[in-house]
Amino acid sequence: MKLRSYARGDWVEGSGKATDLIHAVTGEKIAEATSEGLDFNGMLEYGRTVGGPKLRAMTFHERARMLKEMAKHLLERKDRFYKLSEATGATKPDSWVDIEGGIGTFFAYASRGRREFPDERFYIDGGVEPLSKDNTFVGRHLCVPLEGVAVHINAFNFPCWGMLEKLAPTFLAGMPAIVKPATITSYVTEGMVRTMIDSGILPEGALQLIVGSTGDLLDHVGGQDVVTFTGSATTGRKLKSGRAIIDNAVRFNMEADSLNFSMLGPESKPGTQEFDLFVKEVVREMTSKAGQKCTAIRRTLVPAPMVDDVIKAIGKRLDGVKVGDPQVEGIRMGPLVGKSQVTEVRGRVEEIRRVAELVYGDPSKFDVAAGDRDKGAFFPPTLLYNDSPLTSTQPHDVEAFGPVSTVMPYKSIDEAIALAKMGRGSLVGSLFTSDDEVARDVVLGVSSHHGRLLLINKDSAKASTGHGSPLPGLVHGGPGRAGGGEELGGARSTLHYMQRTALQGSPTTLTRISRDWIKGAAQPSDRVHPFRKYFDELEIGETLITHRRTITEADIVNFAGISGDHFYAHMDDIAAKESIFEKRVAHGYFVLSAAAGLFVDPAPGPVLANYGLDNLRFTKPVYVGDTIQARLTCKQKTEKETRPGMIPQGVVAWDVEVTNQNAEPVAVYTILTLVRRHTKPGDSDASDAPPDHVADNPQAPDTTGAERPVPVKPS
Ligand code: NDP
Repeated sequence: MKLRSYARGDWVEGSGKATDLIHAVTGEKIAEATSEGLDFNGMLEYGRTVGGPKLRAMTFHERARMLKEMAKHLLERKDRFYKLSEATGATKPDSWVDIEGGIGTFFAYASRGRREFPDERFYIDGGVEPLSKDNTFVGRHLCVPLEGVAVHINAFNFPCWGMLEKLAPTFLAGMPAIVKPATITSYVTEGMVRTMIDSGILPEGALQLIVGSTGDLLDHVGGQDVVTFTGSATTGRKLKSGRAIIDNAVRFNMEADSLNFSMLGPESKPGTQEFDLFVKEVVREMTSKAGQKCTAIRRTLVPAPMVDDVIKAIGKRLDGVKVGDPQVEGIRMGPLVGKSQVTEVRGRVEEIRRVAELVYGDPSKFDVAAGDRDKGAFFPPTLLYNDSPLTSTQPHDVEAFGPVSTVMPYKSIDEAIALAKMGRGSLVGSLFTSDDEVARDVVLGVSSHHGRLLLINKDSAKASTGHGSPLPGLVHGGPGRAGGGEELGGARSTLHYMQRTALQGSPTTLTRISRDWIKGAAQPSDRVHPFRKYFDELEIGETLITHRRTITEADIVNFAGISGDHFYAHMDDIAAKESIFEKRVAHGYFVLSAAAGLFVDPAPGPVLANYGLDNLRFTKPVYVGDTIQARLTCKQKTEKETRPGMIPQGVVAWDVEVTNQNAEPVAVYTILTLVRRHTKPGDSDASDAPPDHVADNPQAPDTTGAERPVPVKPS
């Protein structure tokens, strides 16, 4: 079967000489691949002109919903991907990481997209930068999607996850993509892309696929395109220095091979839980995916006196790992992806062996428990030992991309830190210690050289996601040798596909653009109290200035009685006199409560519930006799999706400033309220039933009741 690429809206068969794709276990040919004859420049143009505009017309929330729908669609059809994955030599757990781990990343970005991004086509990054004394000129950062195409070049080891972990932030950002999987396992990616295209969930032009080489594609990338690469450092460097990439300053994210370390803490002697956990993790990382993971443990750092114990314990565990055809019951490790990788890994082991001895396994002499050793691309778990790691370069330099790790001794924490850094930049490191001081020293010592650090003790082990697993919410990538790139990390990676633009202008202009009220911007007021208005009727910047209230000693005493807070600064004249306040002050929480009393309109209306409070600061003390007043400004509105049985609603963020009689702010914060909105087409089964958290909250206001206009003071 000749695999097809998906280019410019069609499945296209390449011409010319094709590459044979071989089953990793049986050695049989299963497909062939070539991309010769594809119009690569045309594909880029198609993505830019067809897919890009459609994705950019959607909001973050719409794109997030698309990711979720796609994730569900793929999950329902996962069996077909597991079937395809068998030919790569993956065990069931290996395939699970690739397939369901990848789909899980889509789910994770779908939910982050709705939680962390606005229902808009742009994203505001960070706060307001004051640029003038009188606050008439301010700055803000705005991010919009790039108008090019994201070209994703992936490695062979994760044909699904490698694609999906890059597509999730790309699509969420609003950028189309061209995916180019490693040819050797491209049949798995092709199967998944076909399912994605057939689903009709993606807008046309959002996703294209190249099976085979990229031809002259990279000669045509421009300043609005992004290229990401996962694979060997050699290829990565070559692509990064491509003419068009340099000339057009194309964003290039590289994730290359890396020699990750795992370290056993000096106090974690044999018999401790941390010792056992360490041994288990090293073996797991050596054998899962037959060690073909960019995050696998290549360097195993052990306190010198424990070297023999560790080697013995690892060996004992490896004895239980049966190598063979993963389709056979009881097989724990499959073959490498192909014969070429066997030759490659064997060569690398030989290089390391110049300075290290073989202490477990032998690549030239091993058995397989199931399958044909000569036909399949089998390789045994191989443990090496190097006794002079400070002066040997090979164990820190040579990556054997298979079930291979080198044990190295260290004599002090400083020495272990120096060894960890000899990898010259890694994706991940891990430390197994019960001593948090050791953890602190190692973290501060090695962080500069690592993208992720896993710290395990008996308390965290049970829930640990493991040394080798990148997670959607945490950054994946490392400096130096690891490529210097960064992927995932939640919202961070979405911004890699967007342009951040610094805006400068008046607060009112920037408020109108961003739909997020900035201090100093216009504050229109209305005769109708804002709590009497539906979500749709509220205007950004709309402001209520309340009446005033003078704080009395009775207020303080009553609040202390109700809350039980008799802190000396509120209740003890002598202590308060000696304190930084010099006299008794009102409770900060009383000031908040009193402010709510000033701005709340009490009658039932469209405000459903108080949802939370952000960024609270008490900026000045409030004393007996002070007179406070509150300003409530509609800062931001975020519509909520209407689920069946839920009242149509949105979250309104209000900027609140409480001032004293001298117009000095005493408290500033943002409150969040849930506000009913008018029903519109597309709201599913909107009913009058309160949302769950309101039903659960006895303090939540009633949602029935008539509304009445209330006169307010002009601002
Ligand atoms: P490569 O660097 O050879 O290939 C990675 C990707 O780049 C593949 O899709 C490959 O496509 C593509 N590619 C290669 N040459 C070009 C080119 N000139 N123009 C455009 N694309 C190109 O890595 P492999 O996947 O073959 O793995 C080799 C080594 O890389 C491993 O042994 C390991 O050391 C390291 N590696 C690192 C990983 C990581 O995540 N950091 C993951 C996997 C591997 P094609 O297959 O068609 O050649």
